Amino acid sequence: MSAIRHDFRSDTVTRPSAAMRAAMAAAEVGDDVYGDDPTIRRLEAVLSERVGCAAGLYVPSGTQSNLIALMTHCGRGDEYIAGQQAHCYVNEAGGAAVLASIQPQPIANQKDGTIALGDIEAAIKPDDMHFARTRLLALENTIGGKPISLDYTKDATALAHDRGLATHLDGARIFNAAIALGVEAAEVARGFDTVSVCLSKGLGAPVGSVLCGPKDFIERAVRNRKILGGGMRQAGIIAAAGLFALEHNVDRLAEDHALADELAAGLSQFPALAVQPAATNMVFVEVSGADEEAFTAFLADRGIAMHSRYGRQRWVTHLDVGAADVAAALAAVAAFFA
Ligand SMILES: *Cc1c(COP(=O)(O)O)cnc(C)c1O
Repeated sequence: MSAIRHDFRSDTVTRPSAAMRAAMAAAEVGDDVYGDDPTIRRLEAVLSERVGCAAGLYVPSGTQSNLIALMTHCGRGDEYIAGQQAHCYVNEAGGAAVLASIQPQPIANQKDGTIALGDIEAAIKPDDMHFARTRLLALENTIGGKPISLDYTKDATALAHDRGLATHLDGARIFNAAIALGVEAAEVARGFDTVSVCLSKGLGAPVGSVLCGPKDFIERAVRNRKILGGGMRQAGIIAAAGLFALEHNVDRLAEDHALADELAAGLSQFPALAVQPAATNMVFVEVSGADEEAFTAFLADRGIAMHSRYGRQRWVTHLDVGAADVAAALAAVAAFFA
């Protein structure tokens, strides 16, 4: 396999630009465990305001952000409802169960990424000693590259609140959702008590997420961050990259979406590929008419990488791929099928 030259594996592969690195080098810092880091303070204030929350907490990863949210909403023996495909259920190594004695109640996602309201309703347990206490509904937007509609979000969060549940949004890619839906991020977050946002996906920061919510919630979340080892010191150095990303890399996500459209249209020309149109920055491809492993290996030999598993590929566009990379990928795909 040759070196990767056109990297469509994930929007996490972006590297900080020279300008972002300059902002990091110039960052004013302090000891954040003492609450002294002005750059982190600013990042928490700026991002929480953008998603319509009163307070924010800077954490090392999206996984830790979701786990802190679950730990702060739920106690030992409580449960949270999440989609079977939700990152916090399926892709975070079972952290809520392993570290916090919180039981997941996964529910099959519908084709559009939502969880049917009737399924949520049916999964909320009555107060009975046989059952875990259902405390939280956790949704994700975007999920599998798909934006979830505001109407659905409104209904699902209202249902949860009516039944006494709290609501959490895994908004790792909330700005992709906002652009796809044509609204501000705060609209996407409306109805949720807490929101987690990743800075290290399409926004292009090297590290970091921010958990946002009400002030008293975030005050309790600080203790859970400490338990998990996420209290950082002069981390304004990396938080500066997050501030830079919010200032420069949000609106341009639309370019990633357009490029994903272009890639999807190009791949659709090949009858052996069943292509799911890109709603944001991800294209999913079922390789039905060819040997998927041979196909992926052929592309890898030409420096083209995507995520592939069980005969299904995921191509992601981001800050560090452009039209030339899409052209190179489509040319290689054409060569394979020629
Ligand atoms: C990437 C991702 C996370 C976790 O973020 P890490 O920083 O990789 O831990 C959580 N939720 C979703 C939807 C993600 O895509």
